Amino acid sequence: MIPVGFEYARPDSVDAALALLAEHGEDAVVLAGGHSLLPVMKLRLAAPELVIDIGKLAELQYVRVEGEEIAIGAGTRHRTLEASEVLAAECPLLAAVAHSVGDPQVRHRGTLGGSLAHADPASDLPAGVLALGGTVVLRSPRGERRVPVTEFYTGVFSTVKEPDELVVEVRVPRTGTAGWAYEKFTRRASTGPSSRWPWSTAGSGSSTWGRPRCGPGRPRPRSRAAPRSRRPRRSPTGTPSPPRTSRGPRSTVATSPGCSPGGR
Ligand SMILES: Cc1cc2nc3c(=O)[nH]c(=O)nc-3n(C[C@H](O)[C@H](O)[C@H](O)COP(=O)(O)OP(=O)(O)OC[C@H]3O[C@@H](n4cnc5c(N)ncnc54)[C@H](O)[C@@H]3O)c2cc1C
Repeated sequence: MIPVGFEYARPDSVDAALALLAEHGEDAVVLAGGHSLLPVMKLRLAAPELVIDIGKLAELQYVRVEGEEIAIGAGTRHRTLEASEVLAAECPLLAAVAHSVGDPQVRHRGTLGGSLAHADPASDLPAGVLALGGTVVLRSPRGERRVPVTEFYTGVFSTVKEPDELVVEVRVPRTGTAGWAYEKFTRRASTGPSSRWPWSTAGSGSSTWGRPRCGPGRPRPRSRAAPRSRRPRRSPTGTPSPPRTSRGPRSTVATSPGCSPGGR
């Protein structure tokens, strides 16, 4: 489908983007990588009057160590996270989660801020940032506020972000060599490309910052329990049924050395 007509603006700074957001309020929408927004507009589930393109703002694209945290600009592409030497040394879980997103084309367009703001429960990066206990930095003409990611999501496709606010940064702890694991479930029974998006869980081995997490709007997974589809199914007579082969989720797993998700 073709989106409803809209005006397009490409501000040259974050301040200029914020001024446009303040002026147009709910009639405006921010475009970062566009990989989630454009399908929504094509389906006419969103019909903004103004699209504000922040995809080329260099001031939103960085990965750097700041004290005990890593500060990541909201406009940083998944590919940059995947290849970041800073993340490889200081927070390898997030690099592995970025690597699991879609395909190279998606990873070269999609941004961390866009993925978090979109709040799709099937997305990978929100699950990773939730597991890490990260922080979302929001800015508006009224100032800046830091929201723990555990308080950022209010439900499926829903966050505490106000219409005039921009996600400008995401902060995660430096986990160093702490153990971690990330498991991504794919619904095999469905067919089209978009229906192959994952169900996500992420966990880490540190008692100070990590805990198992699903994406936004989803309940926490049961700790150390195999997913339902993997448990041996029993017939009414109590005989274990053969494992499902053609239906139900399959999963891919990434872990730090020596880590085994769910004790498997
Ligand atoms: C074929 C395909 C496969 C995919 N596979 C996966 C996958 O396996 N795993 C996965 O997690 N994701 C997947 N995605 C989604 C992809 O990661 C998206 O890029 C991501 O969800 C959204 O990021 P974006 O930068 O494209 O955001 P956009 O589409 O530009 O924006 C999404 C929403 O966030 C808002 N927004 C964007 N940036 C900001 C900001 N800085 N501040 C405030 N609001 C903002 C926009 O207004 C919009 O409402 C896939 C997408 C496609 C097209």
